Amino acid sequence: MKKIVRLFTKGAKSIIAWILLLLLLIFAAITVAEYVKLPSFIPSWSRIFEALGLSPEAPQIIEADKFEIHIIDVGKADSILIRCEGEDMLIDAGEKETAGKVINYLSSVGVKRLKYVMASHPHNDHIGGMSKVLKRFDTDEIIMGDYPVELTPTSNNYEKLLDTIEDKNIPVKKGEAGVTFELGSAKAEILFPYEGYINDELNNYSLVTRFEYGERSFLMMGDCEEEAEDAMLDMNVLKPCDFLKVGHHGSNSSTKKRFLSAIKPEYAAISVGQYDIYGHPDDKVLGRLDDFNVKYYRTDYSGTIVIRSDGSTITVDTEK
Ligand SMILES: [Zn+2]
Repeated sequence: MKKIVRLFTKGAKSIIAWILLLLLLIFAAITVAEYVKLPSFIPSWSRIFEALGLSPEAPQIIEADKFEIHIIDVGKADSILIRCEGEDMLIDAGEKETAGKVINYLSSVGVKRLKYVMASHPHNDHIGGMSKVLKRFDTDEIIMGDYPVELTPTSNNYEKLLDTIEDKNIPVKKGEAGVTFELGSAKAEILFPYEGYINDELNNYSLVTRFEYGERSFLMMGDCEEEAEDAMLDMNVLKPCDFLKVGHHGSNSSTKKRFLSAIKPEYAAISVGQYDIYGHPDDKVLGRLDDFNVKYYRTDYSGTIVIRSDGSTITVDTEK
């Protein structure tokens, strides 16, 4: 009998140990689910609190965050909303086919008018939807590059863009190295291309813009490739930055080691479509980002990516 009791006690102890271990694992999984994407049947604490009606009224957006970059998911194209203290700016507007998506997104986050619209360069995946966006949102100023005659685009989208700028009488600011402007209290400077720069590829005329807000800085590369990166390195205009909008949708022709060594970003985002026929983003680029310990996000996996900063901290939220 004693033996049976002992066996039972031993059995019960091991069952309790197993239950405790299981509870510990569940607790750990729920905690981890807050920060890492786990299978949807594992809820995070905030989802549990929400289900119990215990969520705080305000969403988890930190109110002190004052500078935002929204990498809008427009597939293999660029459309980037930058917001600061009530002022809004759009860099690129994606393809013509996704103009509605860009317009809806801007409306949904409360954009009323745009202080600046910048065309990084006149390829269709950057300016295709721009005419429609300009028609929908009053814009104080448009910033565009100047191109050699042989590279000046003749596309229908570009013609439409120029027509809309003329129809709505939008002032045009020439974008080139040295041009500075402000968005809220954020300071922006165009680093590239400089006057007299010659290249035979329109991508390498992309306007490169660096934003500074408080102690943090953010670099927008358009579709610049290695030659433009090298030209900037030669001109010594690249300073370390906290966030990089990766050039040319993660193509291996961009984001080279020398360039990353100069800017050493902590975060990066790649605007790219699912099942990209060009193989973007290139594994070699992802490898280089990994080598430099960059925490990168990609729109094909995460949807729209929002980077927020209060001038000292940086947080990143993704649509999925
Ligand atoms: Zn592009």
